[in-house]
Amino acid sequence: MSGPVLEFDKPIGILGGGQLGRMLGLAALNLGLRCRFMDQSDDAVAAHVGALHVDDFDRPQRLDDFVRGLSVASYEFENVPVALASKVAERVPLYPGVLALQTAQDRLSEKTLFRKLGIATPEFRAANSLAELREAVATIGTPCVVKTRRMGYDGKGQAVLRSIADVDTAWVSLQGESSILGGASGNGPAPLIVEAFVAFDTEVSVIAARSTTGQIVFYPLTENLHQGGILRISRSPAIHPAVTPAIEQLAMEASRATLEALEYVGVLAIEFFVCNGRLLANEMAPRVHNSGHWTMNAGITSQFENHLRAITGMPLGNTRLLPSCSAGMVNLIGASPAFEQILALPGCHLNWYGKSPRPGRKVGHVNVLEVSAAQREATLAKLVSLIAS
Ligand code: AMP
Repeated sequence: MSGPVLEFDKPIGILGGGQLGRMLGLAALNLGLRCRFMDQSDDAVAAHVGALHVDDFDRPQRLDDFVRGLSVASYEFENVPVALASKVAERVPLYPGVLALQTAQDRLSEKTLFRKLGIATPEFRAANSLAELREAVATIGTPCVVKTRRMGYDGKGQAVLRSIADVDTAWVSLQGESSILGGASGNGPAPLIVEAFVAFDTEVSVIAARSTTGQIVFYPLTENLHQGGILRISRSPAIHPAVTPAIEQLAMEASRATLEALEYVGVLAIEFFVCNGRLLANEMAPRVHNSGHWTMNAGITSQFENHLRAITGMPLGNTRLLPSCSAGMVNLIGASPAFEQILALPGCHLNWYGKSPRPGRKVGHVNVLEVSAAQREATLAKLVSLIAS
């Protein structure tokens, strides 16, 4: 029988060398594979687990050196310039492809795709000028959320408007933020999107993988708690009663439609709001995702391993939770926690990325494995109070 084979002698190229790259690199080592990372910084933490190629993303000087001998390439953050991804894709198979990257880089394109696929989203409108912003806010009504279409992450590049009187201030502040984040297009103002504010019951994400062979797998739904726009806690299975089997089914259908429409290969995350029995898609990430980190310790196959299996055309691994397991994850943000106290908590796995702490920076996470949702909640509560103290 012939088919794809794992090319152990050829590295896998990853654009980006942050913690997601580092976790992909760790999973690769277990499969007998190696990653080569490209990053703009010479202290990118993925270098702990694979070769690091330092180059400029906008004007790469040694791209041929990066792609030489790779079996396949991927990326670990969605703001990799499309021009760079396209140049890589001309030389070596790149998964997920450029279309997925391009779509996910622009909140308007991703919401337009969701709408085209019949996936419900919060009401939205584009706004490319202050006048258009006023009009869009008037149409959608307040409260609403105004976001830069590009480059926003972890709650950066967005503002909640409580009244139409907030429009001018939001325009100025988002234009300022966008120039720092790099979301402007050419010389004009940064394009924005206005979304209805969703008074959601809770937030969930679906992590799925599709391989080069077309095989698709879904992880159980993850419930997510964000604070200040940044993910703090994930749980799987979900705990909120609004997360019903029907909601989980809708999330998987939305994910399948997106994977197929984009002929997607790799892990895809889609984040949703659950609101009054409805599921509204917020955004997608064409990569392994923070809300899937629990799969490292509490999944039969981690999202990182399944991403590698998907892009190398290997059979995808089982996505179920370990038997009788309730999983949780708490992000470590901005500061070193009391490591010894975390490690002393039964059921906790520390994942420290080796980054220097800075305010708002994700520097690690703790995965929680317990035998019941009640015990998971007790451990999560202890962890949260340790981290806060
Ligand atoms: P995002 O960068 O779009 O994922 O937004 C970060 C977080 O801000 C989300 O996870 C929500 O908690 C909140 N958020 C974003 N958009 C909306 C919205 N339209 N309505 C209510 N909350 C939102």
